[in-house]
Amino acid sequence: MLKSVRNTPARILIVDDEPANIQVLAESLPGFDLRFATSATRALELAMEQAPDLILLDVVMPGMDGFDALRWLKAESRTQHIPVIFVTTMTEVEDEERGFAYGAVDYIQKPVSPAIVRARVRTHLELKRQRDLLEEHAALDGLTGIANRRRFDQELGRSWHAAQRSGLPLTLMLIDVDQFKRFNDYYGHSPGDECLRRVASALDHAFSRGEDLAARYGGEEFALLLAGADGASQAQRALAAVQALQIPHARSDSGLFVSISVGVVTTLAAPGTSADAAMSLADGLLYAAKNGGRDRAEVDNLITGERVTVQSLPSSELPS
Ligand SMILES: [Mg+2]
Repeated sequence: MLKSVRNTPARILIVDDEPANIQVLAESLPGFDLRFATSATRALELAMEQAPDLILLDVVMPGMDGFDALRWLKAESRTQHIPVIFVTTMTEVEDEERGFAYGAVDYIQKPVSPAIVRARVRTHLELKRQRDLLEEHAALDGLTGIANRRRFDQELGRSWHAAQRSGLPLTLMLIDVDQFKRFNDYYGHSPGDECLRRVASALDHAFSRGEDLAARYGGEEFALLLAGADGASQAQRALAAVQALQIPHARSDSGLFVSISVGVVTTLAAPGTSADAAMSLADGLLYAAKNGGRDRAEVDNLITGERVTVQSLPSSELPS
């Protein structure tokens, strides 16, 4: 599921080695969800953990200074999109230039004026909100309203790296609507679009656990990214979700209703493997499922070495 742009108060991380300065800034910003750090290293931890919408960053601090903290934030994929406003007593033009060169969005000079702090913070929060909305919109498939391929590829890259760190298994599924060209030729393009919308919605609802993602991968192809190693039972769930729609398909060789073929890979994202290779494997399994008679999943568990075929259950055995 796509996370929606937050409606809760914006979260602002205030970083300054002097608590008195934090106090002044905090009093300038009533109504926001404020977080505080008195060192750059603590600020980086909080930025990673709490995904603030904006950071107010002191420049001169003992240990890591604001410039180094900003460079670190901009180098890390999880924090590089957070706008950073420098708050500093330094008035040299070169310092401001350096801050902007490292990617700060604005500069506020101490002693701060509460009205100026509020105005600049509001401006940059609004800009970020609009960027987030655009990004969310750009991540959606226009026909079905679920995630698009761009979003899937991004999420796969992120999840792959996370799985490498955590050692937890990932399951990938590639799904193709069986004989969809025949469906379109027989019923027409508008019912064809409606069929894709209903399949997309069924998959999106069937796989709505926290980190799970269902995407339209192209044409009549869908992709799922799932946490965990239960590829066979998840494949059964996908087959059942589409089967339960009971969309008539008079030109199908595999039954009365629209069905899907599925290629499933469960993997640990171990060193020496890649997300691209796993997707290619899932694609090969999808074609094996089609060649095997459609309306089924071919599941390869790279962790156990187990390879199974999962067929959809007769309607009478479906969980209601
Ligand atoms: Mg300072």
